[in-house]
Amino acid sequence: MADKAGRRLALVTGGGRGIGRAIALKLGEKGFDVAVNYNNSAASAEELCEELSALGASAGAFKADVSKAGDVAALFKSIEESMGTVQVLVNNAGITRDNLLMRMKEEEWSDVIAANLNSAFYCTKEAIRGMVKARWGRVVCISSVAGLVGNAGQANYSATKAGLIGFAKSAAREYAAKGVTVNVVAPGFIETDMTSVLKENVRSAMLRQIPSGRMGSPEDVAKAVAFFASDEGEYVTGQVLAVDGGMTMC
Ligand code: NAP
Repeated sequence: MADKAGRRLALVTGGGRGIGRAIALKLGEKGFDVAVNYNNSAASAEELCEELSALGASAGAFKADVSKAGDVAALFKSIEESMGTVQVLVNNAGITRDNLLMRMKEEEWSDVIAANLNSAFYCTKEAIRGMVKARWGRVVCISSVAGLVGNAGQANYSATKAGLIGFAKSAAREYAAKGVTVNVVAPGFIETDMTSVLKENVRSAMLRQIPSGRMGSPEDVAKAVAFFASDEGEYVTGQVLAVDGGMTMC
């Protein structure tokens, strides 16, 4: 937020569409400048930057495949040169390659691990040094309820989303004393391209499991991320917040 230290810079991976787009907009509304990373969605990332500028935020769109370490190094270099040091990192980029375990191909496993989990390692490693130096930083990883309770057909995806939780908790312990928090948002069933492919019978079965009686919106997730990114969240680290309409409460 812009309250204590002027405008801060947030990077949202996979920010061009879906949940990442809503997060970028929410952070822009809250007074952050925003670096929007995209891989394929160039046009919508550029359009988002215009919307962010209209909110008074500095914004830039940066192409990188965050599943590749070399791309991530180049991404941070070009953000540093054009916008400054990343103070808030949102590890949002993610893919699904669903299949039953006994049919899952090696590639379906490794592509999901690379896009969802390796990306968070590469980006957080790049970002953390600057955060520690500034004695202020926020990392938010977008996991999933699939990482908490599993999901048939998503052994690869669930493994990455559970992996993000262990990763975030370990990083939270390493950097808590340096003013850097690392937290996790675990969305439930959210209305985006990722879920638009689901068949009607799957959707209605999912809906029956949600006490709130509706799918979540990308904005529901963005509000939780904005809290973790704020000064108000300074004493909250290593936490997992499910944004799921009560789906996984125990
Ligand atoms: P989406 O609509 O399919 O969008 C996926 C985003 O990830 C896109 O912006 C895409 O960028 C980006 N991305 C994927 N691979 C990338 C890569 N290698 N490098 C850079 N960007 C990459 O999905 P979504 O629903 O918004 O999901 C966003 C996050 O929330 C994901 O981590 C997902 O697992 C998680 N999540 C979603 C739900 C849900 O119900 N929708 C539930 C729980 C968790 P390009 O378009 O530019 O390629």
